[in-house]
Amino acid sequence: MLDLKKCTVRWDTENYIPKKVSDFETPPLKGSPKTIAKKFLKENLGVLKISASINDLTFEKTVESIGASTVLFQQHFQGRPIHGAWVAVHINRGKRVFMVKNDTVPAQKLKRQLPKAKAVFLSSSKINATIRKKAKEFGDLTTAIKKESMLYVLKGQIKHVWKVKFGTKKPAGSWILFVDKTNGQIIEERNILKKIIGKGRVFRPNPIVTLDRDDLFDKKDADQEIFDKAYKRVKLKGLHTDGYLKGSYVDTTNTPNNVRSLNYEFVFTREDDRFEEVMAYYHIDTIQRYMQSLGFRGNRGILDKPIKANVHGGFDDQSYYDPSPGKKDLTYGDGGVDDAEDADIIAHEYGHALQDAIVPGFGQTDEGRAIGEGFGDYLAGSFYYEYKKKSRRVKIAEWDAKGFAGGPQEYLRRLDSTKHYPEDMEGEEHLDGEIWSACLWEVRRLLGKKRADTVILESHFYLNQYSDFRDGAEALILANKNVFNGWRSKALKKIFERRGIL
Ligand SMILES: [Zn+2]
Repeated sequence: MLDLKKCTVRWDTENYIPKKVSDFETPPLKGSPKTIAKKFLKENLGVLKISASINDLTFEKTVESIGASTVLFQQHFQGRPIHGAWVAVHINRGKRVFMVKNDTVPAQKLKRQLPKAKAVFLSSSKINATIRKKAKEFGDLTTAIKKESMLYVLKGQIKHVWKVKFGTKKPAGSWILFVDKTNGQIIEERNILKKIIGKGRVFRPNPIVTLDRDDLFDKKDADQEIFDKAYKRVKLKGLHTDGYLKGSYVDTTNTPNNVRSLNYEFVFTREDDRFEEVMAYYHIDTIQRYMQSLGFRGNRGILDKPIKANVHGGFDDQSYYDPSPGKKDLTYGDGGVDDAEDADIIAHEYGHALQDAIVPGFGQTDEGRAIGEGFGDYLAGSFYYEYKKKSRRVKIAEWDAKGFAGGPQEYLRRLDSTKHYPEDMEGEEHLDGEIWSACLWEVRRLLGKKRADTVILESHFYLNQYSDFRDGAEALILANKNVFNGWRSKALKKIFERRGIL
């Protein structure tokens, strides 16, 4: 049995539940990850203060990463699964359990909150009609609509929902929706489906870097002769056959007046609004393929499905990933330099999407949000490293910064901040994110690009939506242990000790 006194424990202070227990290792256990996890849970139900009975924890799946197997159980209540109420048992390659996460909802709380909701359900004929209508908006139906009654925990509120599944053609899709039983609204949607190689032209990552000049400006989105040498011819992989920039990992079709090319040629210059669509498609697709080359593919994949990107999302100089249920898409603004003309910005926002894909709802704490910003900057810095001259490698979004409303700037943020934790925290996630990105940048220097990128991505599998800097640092050390046998582990820990995080 676990002895919590000998482990590191993060408590859910609201429900007084140990929501994360780490810093322990069981002896090697026999059997499949599922068998091991079940045995471990059975023994430790009381220690973990899980008030649901073991029969209400249903095995869902085993998620494989490079260094670990994560076995997920879903809590049920009165026969209905609770979406968002999970127990995760993490098992290393030596078949030892090294961490457990527990987001179960106390049985008492369920009993208190649930009866109220039932009175306000839509009638079954009304809800069926609503679901049928919504399903048709996704395409021509190719299967029957299946639905399953569930509970869904959203920001502390428990909702009765239908989990709805169906297939479509035009566009081809295999869909899962979560529909609120009280009002018929979709609170989450997913497509679980799939090509062609097109030709494109892009900046990689941006003209300031490629031309090594700081005297270039937006000039109202005009093409300028100087840019001729900054354009790169590239292949656009994984395209569907309908002529849109829509493929295995990216879909830009929710951009206003989106591009269509039936011969799959997407060769434009920057003054053409379609240029930014090519940018988003190419850069997101190449980052996804790079992650797959590291080993995050197949059942270890991370967001290996098309993410929607609107590359002309408005006049604000602002871009964002929208994690809300039913959206989970990217928007790039046009203020100043079009944001999607700078691949650093494209990568940064995709970083948010990756985190949310591994840990839905990532960044519920201030430090979690700073991890989000820091990771996005790191991803851009690491991915485009080889295209940047030495002095520019620590600078993020140099091209975007030339179009700032207050006047041109050298860069948006840096990766070599000397800020120290906690005294340099300002409570603003982008500024505090420089503390995190600087740590990651040191990790990269220590482990090298491929190892660092792998460990940093792997570490996200050990986090949850409430994780903070300390969790992030501990997860990185665990990830390095699981994937690379703890190579340079001491020096890795020192990075976070020097920074004040550990
Ligand atoms: Zn951000």
